Amino acid sequence: MAMNKQTKPESPVVWQASDAAEACRLKQQLGEDGVFVAGGTLLRTWWEAGTARMPGHLIDISGMANMQKPIVLVSSSHDRQICQIGAAALLSEVRNDSYIRTHYSLLTTAIKNIAAPSIRNLATLGGNVLSRVGDALPALLVYEAVLLWHDGQGEFQQTLAQWLLEAQVSAGWKNRLLLAIILPPVDLPEQEGYSRLDVYHKVGRREVFTPSIATVAISAIVSSVQHIVDVRLAAGGGQTAPKRLEHTELLLKDAKLDRSLLHSCYTSVMEHFHPIGDVFASESYRKKTAANLIVSELWKAMQPKA
Ligand SMILES: Cc1cc2nc3c(=O)[nH]c(=O)nc-3n(C[C@H](O)[C@H](O)[C@H](O)COP(=O)(O)OP(=O)(O)OC[C@H]3O[C@@H](n4cnc5c(N)ncnc54)[C@H](O)[C@@H]3O)c2cc1C
Repeated sequence: MAMNKQTKPESPVVWQASDAAEACRLKQQLGEDGVFVAGGTLLRTWWEAGTARMPGHLIDISGMANMQKPIVLVSSSHDRQICQIGAAALLSEVRNDSYIRTHYSLLTTAIKNIAAPSIRNLATLGGNVLSRVGDALPALLVYEAVLLWHDGQGEFQQTLAQWLLEAQVSAGWKNRLLLAIILPPVDLPEQEGYSRLDVYHKVGRREVFTPSIATVAISAIVSSVQHIVDVRLAAGGGQTAPKRLEHTELLLKDAKLDRSLLHSCYTSVMEHFHPIGDVFASESYRKKTAANLIVSELWKAMQPKA
C-alpha cells in the first residue's frame, strides 16, 4: 500500500490500494473518514456544493488494474457471451467500445449524454452507478445488469435493481468496493419479421450540469404484425433513483401495439412512476415527460416502415 501524504493540512490523505482486499481493509480501518474515490468528479461537486464533507482519507481505486478494463467477455454455460465492465473503466472508454456499441447500444447512448468529454475522460462507470442517480442507470436496468462487489471477505453478486432498493434503506453498501458491472447476453431477434426497438432519451438542460428532468430507456422486440414480444422499460431523472416500470411492462408484453394500448401505457406510467420533484420540475411534469417519451417511441414503432 502506498500513502501520499498531502502537504496542506485540510487536504485528505490519499491511499493507493493495490487490490480489492486491501482497499476494503483500509475502508474498515478508516470507517466514515475514509471514502473510495475513482474519477473524483462527483465527489468534488458534492464537496464544492457542501452536500458532503471532505473526508480525512481517500482510498484511490483508479489504479487497480483489473477494475479498469472497459470489457471482458466471459462465455456462459449456453456458450453466450457475458460482458463484464470494470467499475473503474472510464465513461469515455466504455462509450467508445465497439462490442458495447453493437450489443448494448443504450449504454453507449446514455454515456454520450453524460457531462462533457473532459469529464467522461476522468469519470468512471462505477462512480456513475454508485451515485444512485447516474444517467447510465436506466440503460443498465433495462439490460438487467448485475453488480460484482468485494466486501472485504470475498466477492459476491447482486442485481442492480436489488442494490437500488437496498440503497434506499441502508448505507451498508458504502463499506463495499464495486469491482465490475456485469451485463447478461442480449437476445437479438433472429427470425425474419421481428424488429428491435432500443431507445434512450434524456430530457434536461444540457449546457451546464443540472440534473435531467427525465431519462427513459426502452428495449422491445416487436413482430411484423405489431405484436410486442418482449419489452423492458426504465425511467429516472433528477434526484429520482431510476427503476424498471414493471407494471407498464406487464401491460405491454404480448399485447398488440395500437392506439388504445398507447393510451393505457400513458396512464400506467402516470400511475406507477413516482419521480421526485424539485425547483426545476415538479413530480407531475417529470411523470408526463417520461410517459410522453415512452408513448411517442411506441407510436413511432407503429408507423409503416418505408
Ligand atoms: C461538470 C459535471 C457534469 C456532470 N454531468 C453528469 C451527467 O450529465 N450525468 C450524470 O449521470 N452524471 C454527471 N456528473 C456526475 C459524475 O461525473 C458521474 O456520475 C461520474 O460517472 C462519477 O464517476 P467518478 O468516477 O468521478 O465517481 P467518484 O466521484 O470518484 O465517486 C462517486 C461515488 O461513488 C463511490 N465510488 C466510486 N467508485 C467506487 C467503487 N468502485 N466502489 C465503491 N465506491 C465507489 C465514491 O465513494 C463516491 O461516493 C457530472 C459531474 C460534473 C463534475
